[in-house]
Amino acid sequence: MRQTGFMIGSSVVVRTRSWIVLCLGFLTVGAPAAYAADCPGHPDALGTSRTLVVDPREHPRIGTMQYRETLPLKDHEVVLTFDDGPLPKYSNQVLKMLDDECIKATFFIIGQQAKANPEGVRKLVAAGHTVGTHSMSHPLTFDRMPVEKYEPEINGGIEWTSAAMTDPSKLAPFFRIPGLMRAEGVENYLISRGIQVWSADFPADDWRHVSSDRVYQLAIQRLEAKGKGILLLHDIQARTVAALPKIIRDLKARGYRIVHVVPATPDRPATPTTPVEWLLHPPTETTPIARWPAVPNFVFTETRTLPAPALADLNAQTEHQPLLPRRTKGQTDIASTLPVPGHDLFSIPEGSVEVLLSTTLSRRAATRMAMAAETPRAGKDKAAKGKAVKPHAARTARAAPVTPKHAAQAKPRPTRVATSVKKRA
Ligand SMILES: [Zn+2]
Repeated sequence: MRQTGFMIGSSVVVRTRSWIVLCLGFLTVGAPAAYAADCPGHPDALGTSRTLVVDPREHPRIGTMQYRETLPLKDHEVVLTFDDGPLPKYSNQVLKMLDDECIKATFFIIGQQAKANPEGVRKLVAAGHTVGTHSMSHPLTFDRMPVEKYEPEINGGIEWTSAAMTDPSKLAPFFRIPGLMRAEGVENYLISRGIQVWSADFPADDWRHVSSDRVYQLAIQRLEAKGKGILLLHDIQARTVAALPKIIRDLKARGYRIVHVVPATPDRPATPTTPVEWLLHPPTETTPIARWPAVPNFVFTETRTLPAPALADLNAQTEHQPLLPRRTKGQTDIASTLPVPGHDLFSIPEGSVEVLLSTTLSRRAATRMAMAAETPRAGKDKAAKGKAVKPHAARTARAAPVTPKHAAQAKPRPTRVATSVKKRA
């Protein structure tokens, strides 16, 4: 029902440079020095280098914190995103800073915030920012919600945000799951409605109890680690408001360029891209990926099992300084000629049968054997009848040669044990 409601009208105001970049697509090479000139009254502004038009149906899940794909950004390109607003006290300050720098960002609105502050939503649209949604009440349980719960959460956010807009078609079909608590069912529901699921490439932890300096440091450090990407911020935090000027100043000093993302419409086709452009670099240890619920499988489906290197491979190139000691001919022969152990190897020397029996058979049987050991003749008769003894005797006959020493040690022992068994019995 909202399908058409998501479309941003073709009448959207796009600044001259962005429009040129948009029309020429990837053929246009950015010229950073010129962006500020597009920002009247702010010659030192960071500006927005280009507008990227994306088709949610072609790339339904983006953001390497959780997904395989992310926006097709070039090196040193950044997309700023702000969640959880609008909250006048802080959102207005963020809006002013972005305006002063001629930066276009993407805002993920909470339905209840839009309901309480519809004017804040209208300001974002009027300033030319992209506006998506972020649920009705921001529950952090999307990963375990039944459809009856997440459907009204998603739709409530969409309805109240679009209701706040003068032109509801300005609402972008972009959704960020609260807390990034992704779930397959939620994603499939969003995708079935043509809504793009936005994760991020890196956060700056501005919702935690950290200083604004820390927010600034994390934003830059994590961006530097990836070289480009979607930065997740919150326009409802004082520390974000305090950190933003420093982040913007540093982005400019380090040569980063801001990219504005808008959804494709029938009048505005997606920016031409190749599939590989939607892949960022593989995750590194410097990025905080592990603590977010990730999509299973995508990393592992491409994993190939490499053959284990042979010892010979390691030594092949190291004639003078071998990594590992070379095997001698003798060692090689041993390794290759050792036979599989036969049953005989585990046979017990004849004299030690009672030791084994005393632990593995019943005490009664052990006693019987002990008595047999003390009266050789009777024992012989019993051994001939006893089921447990018979196979053992046969095995012993085939046993590997026992050295005289072992045989000598083995002989008296059973007698001692047998005696003690007899006494205890
Ligand atoms: Zn949020």
